[in-house]
Amino acid sequence: MSAETRPLYLDYQATTPVDQRVMEAMTPFFTEAFGNPHSTSHAYGWEARDAVEDARQQIAKMINADPREVVFTSGATESNNMAIKGVARFFEGRKGHMIAPVTEHKCVLESLKYAQKLGYEITWLPVAADGLIDPDDIKAAIRDDTALVSVMHVNNEIGTIQPVAEIGAICREKGAYFHTDAAQAAGKTAIDVQDMNVDLMSLSAHKMYGPMGIGALYVRRKPRVRLEPLMDGGGQERTMRSGTLPAPLVVGFGKAAGIVTDERDTETTRIRDFRDRLLKGLQQRVPDLYVNGSMEHRIAGNLSVGFKGIDSEALMDALKERVAISSGSACTSAAVEPSYVLRALGLSDEDAHASVRLCVGRMTAPDEIEVAIEAISEAVRTLRADGTRASVA
Ligand SMILES: *Cc1c(COP(=O)(O)O)cnc(C)c1O
Repeated sequence: MSAETRPLYLDYQATTPVDQRVMEAMTPFFTEAFGNPHSTSHAYGWEARDAVEDARQQIAKMINADPREVVFTSGATESNNMAIKGVARFFEGRKGHMIAPVTEHKCVLESLKYAQKLGYEITWLPVAADGLIDPDDIKAAIRDDTALVSVMHVNNEIGTIQPVAEIGAICREKGAYFHTDAAQAAGKTAIDVQDMNVDLMSLSAHKMYGPMGIGALYVRRKPRVRLEPLMDGGGQERTMRSGTLPAPLVVGFGKAAGIVTDERDTETTRIRDFRDRLLKGLQQRVPDLYVNGSMEHRIAGNLSVGFKGIDSEALMDALKERVAISSGSACTSAAVEPSYVLRALGLSDEDAHASVRLCVGRMTAPDEIEVAIEAISEAVRTLRADGTRASVA
């Protein structure tokens, strides 16, 4: 695939390109400044360590945390595993309950099933038709032996923003830890772990214009969060996550966080304008279109839309040379089952199957919106006409 034949990219929630400035910040740490950040006996190590600590500060600043509360991991999958399994193992036999909505990312759901095997009872919360959970449901479900409540900040399929600050306040009052998967929130909405009463927060660099393979888990120090590490070894990251830190990736993640802190507001305005034009353009050209999830409590770049009667697989196939989109989560898109997130909103199998996720991002150019509107509306019209012919024949 060459630059000329590449389709335009509307799948920014699957991953994002690395920002050129991030690339430039990382490069020297692959070649000249290649030291092991844990080498304490020479300048190569010190140089890498200083760069890692600088990155840690930038990430802490982005979420209003103390740098000592940022633990680097390989990504949000690891961070989610570490938070949920780590707390489950620490409190095994002493606490017995966890809470999460049914619309969480697979890696959260699977980690909770691990906790279940350890003996924890899990309360699976339903969501409303707009994708949001009701904090009163948490209030009703939370118990004295609730070890952890896990609610993702921004949903990866429908872009909805959960009321995390209200949930955090409930958890704090009851003495349960509050974990949030913020992989899709960082860079797209304000994050403040103090205001939100978050105890554990998962982040991923490649969802915010940083490199793949690096992420972080925020672990609160006051009041201190206790968890068992997943990785044992050299005791790096204050013994919470052993293993050599990939200094170039850490530096890239830090740079990406710095850009977010400086530019999020202006970027959000531009991206929202693009997304709104995309929706309006599609609404004008194709009938029977529906938006999944709350439009009000939603990140600027996301549009989860369904086209009545369409098969999303056929739509993606028809568009494959022109526009890169997906039907939701990249992790499950190999499966042909309808999205469990859309089903949880109350959509029928058919309507869930007719939905796609369109996502605008930092590198989206204004003229790409027009191209996408034309390509998608044309493909939908063609598929519908074919469908009608098929049912007539
Ligand atoms: C992408 C994503 C993950 C997984 O992150 P990786 O860094 O790719 O492991 C977890 N949760 C959410 C909400 C995501 O969007």
